[in-house]
Amino acid sequence: MNFISTRDASVSVSPSKAIIDGISADGGLYVPEYFPKVSEQDIKRLCNMDYAERAAYILSLFLNDFSIEELQVITDKAAKRFEDGEPAPLLKIDNNTFMLELWHGPTHAFKDIALTVMPLLLTAARQKQGISDKILILVATSGDTGKAALEGFKDIDGTKILTLYPEDGVSNVQKRQMTTQQGENVRVFGIKGNFDDAQTAVKRAFNDKELRERVHGSGYIMSSANSINIGRLLPQIAYYFSAYCDLLSANELEEGEKLNFCVPTGNFGNILAGYYAKKMGLKINMLICASNSNNVLTDFFQSGDYNSDRKFNTTVAPSMDILISSNLERLIFEMSGRDAELTKRRMQDLISRSAYSISDKERAEAARDFFAGYCDDDSIMAAIGNLFESEGYLMDTHTAVAASVLNSFYLETSDKCKTVVISTASPYKFIEAVMKALKITPGTDLNKSLKKLYNLTALEIPKSLQSLFSLPVLHSGVIDKDGLTEEVLRFVSEG
Ligand SMILES: *Cc1c(COP(=O)(O)O)cnc(C)c1O
Repeated sequence: MNFISTRDASVSVSPSKAIIDGISADGGLYVPEYFPKVSEQDIKRLCNMDYAERAAYILSLFLNDFSIEELQVITDKAAKRFEDGEPAPLLKIDNNTFMLELWHGPTHAFKDIALTVMPLLLTAARQKQGISDKILILVATSGDTGKAALEGFKDIDGTKILTLYPEDGVSNVQKRQMTTQQGENVRVFGIKGNFDDAQTAVKRAFNDKELRERVHGSGYIMSSANSINIGRLLPQIAYYFSAYCDLLSANELEEGEKLNFCVPTGNFGNILAGYYAKKMGLKINMLICASNSNNVLTDFFQSGDYNSDRKFNTTVAPSMDILISSNLERLIFEMSGRDAELTKRRMQDLISRSAYSISDKERAEAARDFFAGYCDDDSIMAAIGNLFESEGYLMDTHTAVAASVLNSFYLETSDKCKTVVISTASPYKFIEAVMKALKITPGTDLNKSLKKLYNLTALEIPKSLQSLFSLPVLHSGVIDKDGLTEEVLRFVSEG
């Protein structure tokens, strides 16, 4: 299977090249040439496998220049970095609702699922491509990707990683996780601006031919660990299949029964993986796209008009504070009947006038797969309090966006399918907001807060967060929106 560009129909590259490039030279995103099918028979086989085996199988359908044995070694290694070696445990909340907890990895957010796998894919891809240059990973983060990528690439031979986060746009825990990052090959900077500014700076660096050449002169090629890289996207497809299998095995689903997934959404990577799973034959009914008050996606699915020219809100779910959802381009490409010319024009419109539109026919087609809704901070807080009170289940603020939108979904539709809510972060990662939602006053420092929340909820505190505020700050730099080029050049010149 090759990967093609969303913006140039003549591009077609091998999986390992797509992983190394990150983004196509025409600015488009790589997508699989076709969607491999997974039959009901295959699903039955997957049911007898553990998560790492399921993930290796799903990856093998796309990554033909990797052997299944090679992929199995990679997914095994990745799974071992999760508590109990279990990356995607599923919990029953009530007869209709399940939580898929994707946050038991090294940084306690769902980004770990892909970022424990991707660095291993990338180093293998580098060998397959016979590349002697080292790889410089540039990451823009709204908080969680940055730390997960830093942990994933830390001290991996032949790589360096530079992460940019919005200086005032991440939680205290998130910021501290990044500024205390250890490892010889890492750099972290705050940027004066929001996540979109960080993402734009990174995209601009990728499209800057002169910078690429100078970086190359220092023995590096640039790549991305953002969810525009298919090495990020593909590992995420596995947990949709895995959740379905776990429900079948627990007799919660009949063979062939349809299931909803409700996904807290920012850059549209998580939910797009669900759409890909559906394309591959997984019996998904609706994909519920849940946004916070940065509701650009809700408006898009309802009107067919994408318009990022609007107020940017800083919410209690900061990892979803995004107005330009990069991965939506991949959905638009499918909706257009894989028309690269049209997709390119729309993406140019997005740059030149912050907006583009899809046709009514395309919008109607999207509505067959997606329901979109959003909620504000008050509803997020209420959802956390309510679910804890009624079921004793504690959610983080992002997961609460999904829980709140799921309520609206059941109210607005007559849908009867069961739903898996994708639970994307440990509540401890967003502790200030979570404590406020439960109406408990935070402690005088983080450790006291952690203990207070633990005493009330008995939810185990992640070990890495217990020691977080006693670690030394190693990265305190803050740069301007156009300061990235200089830092990139400085970093690669150090060897
Ligand atoms: C990144 C993130 C999301 C959103 O995922 P996208 O792939 O950007 O849509 C939701 N919740 C948390 C905790 C995240 O870190």
